[in-house]
Amino acid sequence: MNVELVNTGTELLLGDTINTNAAWIGQRLAALGVQVSRQTIVPDGVVIRVAIAEAAQRADVVLVSGGLGPTNDDLTRESTAELLSLDMELNAGVMQHLSEYFAKRGKPVSEATQRQAMVPRGAEVLHNHFGTAPGLYFPPELSAALGWNAHIFLLPGPPRELKPMVESEVETRLRNWLPDGASRRVLYLKVTGVGESDIVEAVEKRLEAIAGLDLGYCIRNGDVDVRLAGPQAAVDEAADVVRAALGDCIVSEDRRIIEEVIVQLLQERGEWLATAESCTGGTIANRITDVSGASRVFGHGWVTYANEAKHQHLGVPTELIETHGAVSEEVARAMAEGALRNSGADHALAVTGVAGPTGGTPEKPVGTVWIALATKGAETWAQKKFSPGSRDRFKLLTSQAALDMLRRRMLGIALR
Ligand code: AMP
Ligand code: MG
Repeated sequence: MNVELVNTGTELLLGDTINTNAAWIGQRLAALGVQVSRQTIVPDGVVIRVAIAEAAQRADVVLVSGGLGPTNDDLTRESTAELLSLDMELNAGVMQHLSEYFAKRGKPVSEATQRQAMVPRGAEVLHNHFGTAPGLYFPPELSAALGWNAHIFLLPGPPRELKPMVESEVETRLRNWLPDGASRRVLYLKVTGVGESDIVEAVEKRLEAIAGLDLGYCIRNGDVDVRLAGPQAAVDEAADVVRAALGDCIVSEDRRIIEEVIVQLLQERGEWLATAESCTGGTIANRITDVSGASRVFGHGWVTYANEAKHQHLGVPTELIETHGAVSEEVARAMAEGALRNSGADHALAVTGVAGPTGGTPEKPVGTVWIALATKGAETWAQKKFSPGSRDRFKLLTSQAALDMLRRRMLGIALR
């Protein structure tokens, strides 16, 4: 099935708005096993008509976003009606929706807004539960006279309106049109702590042997998403292969990132986390507090960048720092244990390392980091990692490794 996108809006071409609709739709359709074959971006105005015509000549499905609003540069509805020579009719259902929408907000329905209730004859209204402009669906019969055979969808521009409409109105139809749409599954295994090439080495040969499996890898934020798509049986078989080879490294099977998994685990156990960070400058705390519900599991985070701060706030003995250096197993352990003591938390993560680009030595080159985890009633873990590269990347990978250490402890999985 050949699907094309037409994203409308001058702001997209000016670079004022990033075309996130295209990226999001691309991912959603990929999950259905459909690869978008072309994206076109056009400014507001009559050129929309040309872009839709060109796409409809080639594609089975054309998804158009934007330009359904009330302002006079929103011309997608009218352009499409003109293209397909369809008269516009006032739609009572949409008018009712608009009246109720504005009544709730204590405003009258303006004339400009009423335009959104005009529906080209024969097009189906796609209800917009999160805004005023409805979407529209034009079945292939409406463009048959032009020699095309395309399903055309007009979708609102704002992502919060477009996404639910794609999920409820577009994807359900696509599934029906795809030969294996109903039985198709997609599973994302989020793997952390092993590089893409190691994953390939560990599983690819066996995965390639599975008939009908569509396999993909995507590296993001220190993880690798292993995407398994295809018939249910193929996806199940492939998932078992990955679980058997890399089970301890699978963070989630539902696209949740590691901090979300950790906050949930802590919540379930009623446990608290504290952090003592040097080289990551608060990245671990930042990631944890990005998750809703963090306040029930995270109370204390120290950024002890200077040696003096490690001593003053975490009780790390000055002699320990002098003897072993700030970047050492001993200091990492003392930081974690100090944070555990001072916070009263159940777990405390500590990191101390050389982010670079300066400050490296032959024994402790840039990228060297010690990570420690102290847990009430358990021995403290410490592990050395090496992540040379930019400071950003160092912080990301170090925070990832620290969070993974905690995940492993909570799940009773040994360190790798
Ligand atoms: P429109 O209905 O075309 O006027 O779009 C309304 C708003 O939706 C725009 O101002 C943008 O903020 C947003 N928007 C439109 N198209 C996109 C897109 N392709 N990706 C992300 N946001 C968009
Ligand atoms: Mg617009």
